Amino acid sequence: MSLFASLARDPETSSDPASSRRSFLRGATTALAAAGLGPLAAGQSPTKPNAQDAVHLPELHADTEAPDKTPGPFEAPSQRTGFAVVGLGTLSLNQILPAFAKSKYCRVAALVSGDRDKSRKIAAQYGIPDRSLYDYKTYDQLAQNPDVQAIYIVLPNSLHAEFVVRGAKAGKHILCEKPMATSVKDCERMIAACKAANVKLMIAYRQQYEPMNRQIIKMVKEGKLGTVKSFIATNGQNQGDPAQWRQKLALAGGGCLPDVGIYCFNAARFLSGEEPSEVVAFTTQPKSDPRFTEVEESCGFTLHFPSGLIATCSTGYGIHRSQFLRIEGEKAWAELSPAFAYTGIKLKTNRTEDGHNVLSEPSIEEKDQFALEMDHMAQCVQQNLQPHTPGEEGLHDQRITDAIYESARTGRSVKIAPPPQPTRGPDPQES
Ligand code: NAD
Repeated sequence: MSLFASLARDPETSSDPASSRRSFLRGATTALAAAGLGPLAAGQSPTKPNAQDAVHLPELHADTEAPDKTPGPFEAPSQRTGFAVVGLGTLSLNQILPAFAKSKYCRVAALVSGDRDKSRKIAAQYGIPDRSLYDYKTYDQLAQNPDVQAIYIVLPNSLHAEFVVRGAKAGKHILCEKPMATSVKDCERMIAACKAANVKLMIAYRQQYEPMNRQIIKMVKEGKLGTVKSFIATNGQNQGDPAQWRQKLALAGGGCLPDVGIYCFNAARFLSGEEPSEVVAFTTQPKSDPRFTEVEESCGFTLHFPSGLIATCSTGYGIHRSQFLRIEGEKAWAELSPAFAYTGIKLKTNRTEDGHNVLSEPSIEEKDQFALEMDHMAQCVQQNLQPHTPGEEGLHDQRITDAIYESARTGRSVKIAPPPQPTRGPDPQES
């Protein structure tokens, strides 16, 4: 069993999320150091294959036993794509950095943060040397760091554009969190900068790499649902601190819609394989609540698709966490409840068979969505492939976001032009 498999199987890591994070970090630190997954020595090329640093262990059990379920094969450290993680906030600390130990093709090679004390502590946990720690001013010096091939941008939304453009100019491939940016103009200049620098740009739509979402895509493509007629989804939660950047229009670009509502309409697009042509929307913004002086509290919208498919979605910042989607065809439906979560997603399907109503809950192994998404990016870098969720996917979601806000503002339905070409690259190789 590989070192990482033993970490993944540690029963401590699968119970309470806070204690599993702590125990995981403890384990990951030791394991990463032991496996030599810290950054490479100066001058050592991270792209040069070095099969000697891969560990292969003999099989312990007889052939008559079922093989251990290990997540390997993992790539040797020297063959992995080195990532610089930019912004050490909630998502980076709790999801992205731990996911490196579950990834097969990535390693964390550098950190970028405005808080040196914090980045030193995190660097110690992940075996990153001082020379690979940057702040937002020295960020451009990543250009001179041969350990880093890709940059993962995990900053407040309106800062994505600047850091993507600077990262591309530094000659690094870019994985950027959703929403891609806060305006169509910014999305376009991010795409242009990455094209000009000849680097990949991928938007981190983790749910598009998640196995149960991929199963629904397959069912739709194979006609298992029949003609798809309707999609319903909700994604909402109660926001806390009114001073958080998510409540500031200039940093967030909006309220619940670009933050969590985006999952609903992105799912309507990628699950159905269609693009919406028109939207009607409403927002509410109780300005007396300090959380909503600048951004909307809730948003409901209905998207119409050329085939006749109607997607009805709602999102909110003032509701108890609610995450659900269902895609309904003439022959069957498939639902995820919860949908959009980091873990615990459950798939249910319903169809009629031999005159009976059949409700099933297919058992599909849960995988770390961040590891899957990062591994896809690494494969694109290593094999020179187009990402499945490139900048164009994020740009089209920004156009839809703008159309939703325009409809809510004007009280009219708003047409959405189809994208000039498909917005998604080839399907990911694994999920
Ligand atoms: P966060 O507030 O926890 O972290 C943001 C980080 O950016 C902090 O370390 C902060 O210090 C830094 N920062 C730099 N400049 C800043 C500025 N001017 N104002 C505020 N902070 C600044 O946020 P987060 O939850 O980690 O979100 C970061 C990004 O990740 C956002 O784009 C968000 O939409 C995205 N996100 C994605 C998912 C997902 O499931 N894919 C989940 C959560 C967040």
